Amino acid sequence: MSEFTDLKSLSSAEYLQQSGDFLKLTLEQPDTLEPFSFNLTDGTKVQVWDTGVICFEPAVLTPNDIVLSCGVHGNETAPIEICAALVQDVLLGRLTLKHRLLVLFANPPAINASTREISENLNRLFSGTHSKIDGAHNAERTRAKALEQYVSQFYNAARVTETVSRNRCLYDLHTAIRGSRFEKFAVYPFLHNKPWQKAQFEFLHACDVTTVLLMQTPATTFSYYASNTHGADSFTIELGKVQPFGQNDMRRFTKVNHALRQLISEDAVTTKSFDESQFQLYQVYRAINKQTEAFELHFADDVENFTCYPVGTLLASDGEIEYRVEQEGEALIFPNAKVAKGQRAMLMVVPTSVVHNLA
Ligand SMILES: [Zn+2]
Repeated sequence: MSEFTDLKSLSSAEYLQQSGDFLKLTLEQPDTLEPFSFNLTDGTKVQVWDTGVICFEPAVLTPNDIVLSCGVHGNETAPIEICAALVQDVLLGRLTLKHRLLVLFANPPAINASTREISENLNRLFSGTHSKIDGAHNAERTRAKALEQYVSQFYNAARVTETVSRNRCLYDLHTAIRGSRFEKFAVYPFLHNKPWQKAQFEFLHACDVTTVLLMQTPATTFSYYASNTHGADSFTIELGKVQPFGQNDMRRFTKVNHALRQLISEDAVTTKSFDESQFQLYQVYRAINKQTEAFELHFADDVENFTCYPVGTLLASDGEIEYRVEQEGEALIFPNAKVAKGQRAMLMVVPTSVVHNLA
């Protein structure tokens, strides 16, 4: 795309219409981007609301409002590459949208810096936490608040009659810091005891995601925010292990890429009917929080998510406190001794079933 590299001689709208490269436009202006809009030849309205925030509205509306987000953690490149290619194909007319779509490249400064975060973990700042917690303002808190506003604006702006209910979803795409016994997995936010959605498990299966962690408490994540505040079917989806840009083996994402493209361009995603035996379902057994600077993990740094140890194995210590495996099948997930004091250093999960609360 060398003929499009001279960004300065073109307006942002001209550049985007010619190159389709919204990620590049975002990363060249990571802090702010003046809003603009234009129409594609098929009548789809394209609106750029901010850096990393692009909204598409087809000429003929359906009841579906789809949000895809990536780059909440700046170094999680595979989902950023998947979303950038998808946006480019829509902009260049290679993929025709069927439904309203909002795509979010959530943390452009962190993407530019190839780091998980600049000041703090963006995915701990939602549902208003950005404005509640102590400490100075920083870019991630400002961005979390703005992302909430954009999601609200998107869901609330649907031009529909009162009689048609909307199907809202938000898929927040990540890759994990460490390897995983199950390469891809999803976190299903706490639904406040409403039933888990069979159709969502079927969609996850189509994405090649068959391990699902069912949460039992509210969280400050983006996916819980969309679920709890907007009633969206929402997930944090972990697609594999973090790799630098250009070093992802994109063949590992063929199914999720195909399912996401079907989701936005067709009436329905091709799925198989839900069969729990094809899934590994877990629920949280306990969260282990770092209480002192003496907090220490007692297993190798590169241990995989969902690793199990025998009952009694020492997992972590925190000064005088010892954490040992308490239950058969108890598996560890997201261990990170470097979190700030008071934050979650590890989750312990146990196998579960959804058949008693499924709709
Ligand atoms: Zn992440």
